[in-house]
Amino acid sequence: MNILVINCGSSSLKYQLVDMNGEEVLAKGLVERIGIEGSRIKHDTTGKDRVVIEEPMKDHKRALELVLNAVVHAEYGAVKSLDEINAVGHRIVHGGEDFAESVIINDKVMEAIEKNSELAPLHNPPNIIGINACKELMPATPMVAVFDTAFHQTIPADNYIYAIPYEYYEKYKIRRYGFHGTSHKYVSQRAAEILGKDIKDLNIVTCHLGNGSSVTAVEGGRSIDTSMGFTPLAGLAMGTRSGDIDPAIIPFIMDKENLTFDEVNNMLNKKSGVLGISGISSDFRDLEIAEQEGNVRAKLALDIFANKVKKYIAAYAAQMCRIDVLVFTAGIGENSDSMRERICEGLECLGIRVAKELNDGVRGIEKVLSKDLTATAVMVIPTNEELMIARDTLELVSNR
Ligand code: ADP
Repeated sequence: MNILVINCGSSSLKYQLVDMNGEEVLAKGLVERIGIEGSRIKHDTTGKDRVVIEEPMKDHKRALELVLNAVVHAEYGAVKSLDEINAVGHRIVHGGEDFAESVIINDKVMEAIEKNSELAPLHNPPNIIGINACKELMPATPMVAVFDTAFHQTIPADNYIYAIPYEYYEKYKIRRYGFHGTSHKYVSQRAAEILGKDIKDLNIVTCHLGNGSSVTAVEGGRSIDTSMGFTPLAGLAMGTRSGDIDPAIIPFIMDKENLTFDEVNNMLNKKSGVLGISGISSDFRDLEIAEQEGNVRAKLALDIFANKVKKYIAAYAAQMCRIDVLVFTAGIGENSDSMRERICEGLECLGIRVAKELNDGVRGIEKVLSKDLTATAVMVIPTNEELMIARDTLELVSNR
């Protein structure tokens, strides 16, 4: 069975076609600048040269039409016709409290996704556009929604309720939701598989460190706490997002700088994090180079980032009593040996010890970085959200 995985953003669309017999990627690609001048698709069919398709794409439907053309193209396509795409799995950012699991998309599901747009006004609307475009182009193909928030629906109330009047939870559903759920789920399951253990017997902390970053406590395979909150702005300091700050800072800056709420919101999302601290870049590669050249604020930004991850790891150790496995994933977690080392430094008291010779130079591969088998297993596991979406889609479509 071939499954098409779609991740639709406001002006971009990522896709992957996966043959589930052997979980082999047949084709993948990225559409950029949808609805903007200079739209293009970078399409890769496994075993063939990359093609770049530059053509105007006024909306997501046109983009998807061109993606499907590329996937079935006689020369650079992966399959002969659209009939060979058996199901589509959509990544949806916010499922609110409605979805603790992936679901087959029907009218009722669409209504609930639309309702939850209020909680993710930047993300759910493009996801919905992607579903509707697929429905028009492949009306008979079953579709599944896989939510970033679903894995975290097992978090207990004492970890998801904010200390503000309870009526705001009741009236507006203001609570911690958490994000990157598909990634945290994938790497925690994969960690158990690699270690040859039942996930039910493991307490795992997963660190998804990329442009957006979050840490999750996974107890017996269930998320019990995570660093992102009502929105993906919460928790760690990130590339350009502030993470947790004293909420009183917001009205104070609005007053001093004469800013509107939208301007402050933009500052917290786009100009803060390690970019805001360093004044140089949101990219950790740039910051690591600047630090080596003696830039004090680049070093400060990296230290602050590491410190915050450390605090979450320690907090989750306190919640779960012990950490059996610590996983690093996503752009920084998979690629930056120095950031992994910096985070683990000082956590020896929790049984977390990275062997320098096992960590140095490790990039984008699955690897255990710790030696002591009786202590915490520290691991790098490249995330694979697309595969997780394809697996959920296969399961739901097969059981229909
Ligand atoms: P996204 O959240 O956009 O999916 P990624 O998981 O791709 O982000 O992570 C992107 C980030 O990973 C980049 O901003 C960069 O800081 C970091 N990164 C990628 N490669 C390296 C590397 N070799 N060393 C340090 N950081 C890296």
